[in-house]
Amino acid sequence: MIIVMESGASDGHVRTVVDKIQKAGLNTHVSVGVARTVIGVVGDDRTKEMLRESLEVSPGVERVVAILQPFKLVSREFIPRDTIVSVGSSAVGGSRVAIMAGPCSVEGRDQILATAEAVKAAGGTILRGGAFKPRTSPYSFQGLEEEGLRLLAEARARTGLPVVTEAMDAAQLELVARYADMIQIGARNMQNYPLLREAGRAKLPVLLKRGMSATLEELLLAAEYILNEGTYQVVLCERGIRGFNGHTRFTLDLSAVPVLKRLTHLPVIVDPSQATGKWRYVAPMARAALAAGADGLIVEVHPDPANALSDGPQSLNLENFASLMTSLRPIAAAIGREV
Ligand code: PEP
Ligand code: MN
Repeated sequence: MIIVMESGASDGHVRTVVDKIQKAGLNTHVSVGVARTVIGVVGDDRTKEMLRESLEVSPGVERVVAILQPFKLVSREFIPRDTIVSVGSSAVGGSRVAIMAGPCSVEGRDQILATAEAVKAAGGTILRGGAFKPRTSPYSFQGLEEEGLRLLAEARARTGLPVVTEAMDAAQLELVARYADMIQIGARNMQNYPLLREAGRAKLPVLLKRGMSATLEELLLAAEYILNEGTYQVVLCERGIRGFNGHTRFTLDLSAVPVLKRLTHLPVIVDPSQATGKWRYVAPMARAALAAGADGLIVEVHPDPANALSDGPQSLNLENFASLMTSLRPIAAAIGREV
């Protein structure tokens, strides 16, 4: 349920409404817009219905609207305008397309510094790199852990690019949050609810990737966990879902972009690297994602993909990344955005 206040409602009117709701044992999320304040109410449906009449007649209230979708705080009904997520000195959402790029895994100092410099030079806006890796096999490289985080921080100091990196469980979050500018929650962890809750309390923006078998409603409800802990700075990422074709690693569900943009105020980005699993298809799907209205991309880039310790086959080399960036510019311009 949301309570839309009149444009002239005073702080006292808002406080009275919030008090009524909280006394009934429900939670409030107050969103102060340019024109008016909107109060989101979350909690038991029957209690909400019982309060409804009393809220409707409360001074300063314009209307009380039931949110029919199961997700509330992430919905456009609650916040109609696009959310812009700040990541260090950069942002996701708004007219400038965000380009997160870097290796799948941080493998060493030379590798991450060379990649970060190339990403920066080509116009990338955020550096990605995994220090804790969710690998399909326990025998595969698992990441450099804290040393990887330290190297990411060094690459940030060198290039000025903010850093996004994955935390795989709630116990890792504190460590990751000490180094990162944005916490990545991977596809395999989209429904790890303790992790979502902790991430919502970490006071950093969160990049939430869609599970490979998750519906969009499940993705939005996973994001709802993070917002419900007080972090509204969440970016959603479509990274491909399980299909039956063997040509690509996953099937990139590009229609998720316009659907999510309609349902939620949160920015939506696309990962063409995990989705296709093959570097040849990364650039075409990256361009398609931009054309479909994505607010950004997350792309794997490696100085020597043939010798990468993870996801080499889907990584662009430095030169191919620079060409991709050049090819994105006219597409962004055609839809009124910039890269
Ligand atoms: C990654 O970004 O390297 C990754 C493991 O992504 P996902 O969680 O989407 O598989
Ligand atoms: Mn990867």
